[in-house]
Amino acid sequence: MAVTPVPSPHIEDLPQYIPGTSGEGEEAIKLSSNENPLGASPNIATELASMAEKLATYPEDGSPQLRAALAAKYGLDIERIICSAGSDEVFRLLCHAYLAIGDNIVQTRHGFSMYHIFARGFGAEIRFAEETVYSADIEAILDQIDDQTKIVFLANPNNPTGSYLPYEAVKQLHARIPENTLLVLDGAYAEYVQANDYAAGIELVSAHENVIMTRTFSKIHGLAALRIGWAYASRQVIGNLNKVRSPFNVNAFAQAAAMISLSDQNFIDESVRHNQKELVRMTEALTQLGYDIVPSVANFYLIDFHSEKTANNAFDALATAGLITRKVASYGLGNHLRITVGTESANDKVIATLKKFKETA
Ligand SMILES: *Cc1c(COP(=O)(O)O)cnc(C)c1O
Repeated sequence: MAVTPVPSPHIEDLPQYIPGTSGEGEEAIKLSSNENPLGASPNIATELASMAEKLATYPEDGSPQLRAALAAKYGLDIERIICSAGSDEVFRLLCHAYLAIGDNIVQTRHGFSMYHIFARGFGAEIRFAEETVYSADIEAILDQIDDQTKIVFLANPNNPTGSYLPYEAVKQLHARIPENTLLVLDGAYAEYVQANDYAAGIELVSAHENVIMTRTFSKIHGLAALRIGWAYASRQVIGNLNKVRSPFNVNAFAQAAAMISLSDQNFIDESVRHNQKELVRMTEALTQLGYDIVPSVANFYLIDFHSEKTANNAFDALATAGLITRKVASYGLGNHLRITVGTESANDKVIATLKKFKETA
C-alpha cells in the first residue's frame, strides 16, 4: 500500500463547509447566502479603485484605524476589539486559542455550522443543545455544560432559523454559565432586529471577562466579497486571539471599505427599512398561500415544507425559475428551505413561483 501524508486525526473525518450555491448563468438570483440585495454603500467603489496603486504594500497590521472607528461608533475600548477576515475567522481563532483535546463546545441543534466544524478541527467534542420550536433553549444549553466546556456558541439571531433570544434570556444564560466558559454572542444579523427586547450584547461583554460579541460586514454592510468582521471582548481574550491570528489578516481594501461603510448610516438605515418591509410582506404572502414560515427577525426566512421531498422539489422549482435558495438538511432541517429577503422584484418572483408550486404539487 502506498504511504501518504496523514492529517491530524481530527481532520480526517471533518466535513467541509458547503456554502450556499450561486447558480448558473447571469440570470440567476442568489438568495442562498443572506447577502444585502441593495449592494454596499455607494461611497466605497471609488475609494477602492483609487487604492489599486497600493497593491504592493502590506495592509496595516491589526486594523488600527478601523478599530478606532468601531470604538468611536459603539463607545468601546479600542484594546478590546479585534478585526478579522470575516467573523468566521474569529470563531476559528477562539477554537485555536481555547480548545485542547478533551474539551468540548456547546451549541444549539440548528445553530450555525462553522462553530462545530472549527471546534472539531481542534479536537474538541461537540455538544448540541436541543431547541424548542426553532429557538435556543437556555435550560437545554446549561444541561450540556460541564467542567470541560470551554465555549458556548450562540448565534443571536440564529441562522438558519431566524429566531432570537431576548436580552433578558441571554443575561440569565450568562449568569448561570461557569466563569471559565466563554459565551460567544454571534451578532451577524444584529442590525436587522427590530424587537425592543433584543440587544447584541455590548453591555454584557463590557461587564464580564467571559463574553465575546462577534459582528460582520458581510450581511447588512454588503461587503461579503471582502471578508471582514470584528469582535469585542475582554483585553485578555482579545490578547489571546491576537496571538493566534495571522499578521495582516484583514486586507487593505476590506479595512478601507468597512470604515466608509461605518460612516454611511443612511445606507444601513435604508437596508434595514427595505428588509423589514419585504420580510413582513414575504411572511404574509407565503403564509396566505398556505406555507409555514418560521418567524424571523433577520434578512432571511425558513419555510417548513413538512417533507424533505417537497422541500427538494420546491428548491428545484425555484431554481428553474432562476431563484437560488438554500437547502438546510445539514442543519438537521431537511424539510425546510432558507430564503434570503431579496429585492422587491426577486421577492415577487419567489411568491409567484411558490404559488405555482402549490397549485401543481
Ligand atoms: C453569515 C454569518 C456569519 C458571518 O460570517 P462572515 O465570516 O463574517 O462572512 C456569522 N455567523 C452567522 C450565524 C452567519 O449566518
